[in-house]
Amino acid sequence: MATPSSSDNLMETLVSLCKRRGIIYASSEIYGGLNGFFDYGPLGAELKRNIRNAWWQDMVHRRDDVVGLESSIIMHPKVWEASGHVAGFTDPLVDCKTSKQRYRADQLFFAAVVVDGAIIGYVSALESERTADELQEKAEALKRKKAVQGALAPVAVKEFTEATPEQIPLIPSPATGEPGSLTPPRAFNMMFETHVGPMRDSSAVAYLRPETAQGMFVDFKNVIDTTRVKLPFGIAQIGKSFRNEITPRNFIFRSREFEQMEMEYFIMPDADWLACHESWLTWCQDWLKSIGLPESHLSLHEHPKEKLAFYSRRTVDIMFKYPFGVQELWGIAARSDYDLQQHQKFSGVPQIWFDEATKAKVVPHVIEPAVGVDRILLAVLCAAYAEEDVKDDKGNVEKRTVLRLHPRLAPFKVAVLPLLKNKEQLTGRAKALYTKLKRRYNVAYDDGGAIGKRYRRQDEAGTPWCVTIDFDTIEKPGDTFTLRDRDTMQQTRITEAELFALLAEKVDNA
Ligand code: ATP
Repeated sequence: MATPSSSDNLMETLVSLCKRRGIIYASSEIYGGLNGFFDYGPLGAELKRNIRNAWWQDMVHRRDDVVGLESSIIMHPKVWEASGHVAGFTDPLVDCKTSKQRYRADQLFFAAVVVDGAIIGYVSALESERTADELQEKAEALKRKKAVQGALAPVAVKEFTEATPEQIPLIPSPATGEPGSLTPPRAFNMMFETHVGPMRDSSAVAYLRPETAQGMFVDFKNVIDTTRVKLPFGIAQIGKSFRNEITPRNFIFRSREFEQMEMEYFIMPDADWLACHESWLTWCQDWLKSIGLPESHLSLHEHPKEKLAFYSRRTVDIMFKYPFGVQELWGIAARSDYDLQQHQKFSGVPQIWFDEATKAKVVPHVIEPAVGVDRILLAVLCAAYAEEDVKDDKGNVEKRTVLRLHPRLAPFKVAVLPLLKNKEQLTGRAKALYTKLKRRYNVAYDDGGAIGKRYRRQDEAGTPWCVTIDFDTIEKPGDTFTLRDRDTMQQTRITEAELFALLAEKVDNA
């Protein structure tokens, strides 16, 4: 199996595959695009929808203790005061006064260049898989440039947030390579502001939600008053969130408009929150594996105590090994009763659960698994992509590109291919099968070109099975088709009933 040689190549290859096959486009591309915004094309829209549906099915429909919610994107501005976002949803922003580039201070790194114990200057680099190596290379280059003799110490990498006021003017900008143009970090609020109604003054300011979670807290009372949920229970939501990220990057990994799937699991204040947190952590990892992400690419990152938000008792991120590095995919936080307490305080409305058994009134605590749909989609594409050398009918070696998507996620479940385009008996049977399949599944129909080419097209779109209507179908008894498996490329014969059974097993009941 051959795959693109470097991680940069894999990202470039994926971005161009996404464009070529209609998975993801830059937003407003005809106007030059808009940084941090993306459109999902016909195949991408299906893939994304299938990810959402799989999560909803497993998180809400297949459980008895989680209900769904769709709250509005623009909420009362007080929500974001209560949640702490107005005051504290900030990233440390650094400007380069010369190039006008902006950086997140926690994604910008620097090091003193030390030769024989003396500092001869500073080097800087942006966060990447190679940050430390890059800083070391730059340190060596600086030593050569300054023609300093002596032993160069290995660089000690530091975040720009740790730079002292004396160091800041000496650290070169990554844009220009020269020191003197970087500003000290300042807090930049990432919420997008808008105005509600015809007035443009401060009384009309509202925000596009930066997370879906607050919807679940604000509607907590509504849900317990109008449904029959009992503690412990969860409220789940899938929806768009917006963050004015300083440096959107890595394709759809960090964008300014994205989609989240979050669930707030409410528990008694005296419940074993750690056990509950652990069990959601396991659930989330199992779910990622169930949709085809390899265990080898998943790892856990426990937030150190000193970096936890003050209300968080524990946060563990499930990390994924993307081509550009190991990065956060899913955050699982134990948020105590902070959010409900805050909304109780700011709204004056008690956020209380009445426990029939003990007659106690309690403000529940919460465990929150929060994940981005776009980040899952990117992880799924990275894991599914493969290039292989295969032999064609004549024994010639050719390259095939294949997306090994889990059948549940694949945009098309099956492609129906009549062997010949102009043979009424073949196309008639193919159309009949296609129409029947389409009532339940998203199915492709392709009658253009050589059969091998059509298989390749479906491989690249991640379609798990192709069925070819051939002469055996119409001439031999049994009404069977050729079933071609995407991953093994093996061909077998199958009846219509067997095809539906296969789909039921691998798609509906997966
Ligand atoms: P990061 O540290 O990467 O900025 P975060 O810790 O701020 O993420 P949360 O606020 O915990 O993220 O959001 C929950 C999930 O939403 C993240 O785990 C991620 O999957 C997704 N997410 C957050 N920000 C973005 C973004 N800008 N683009 C795409 N997905 C995002």
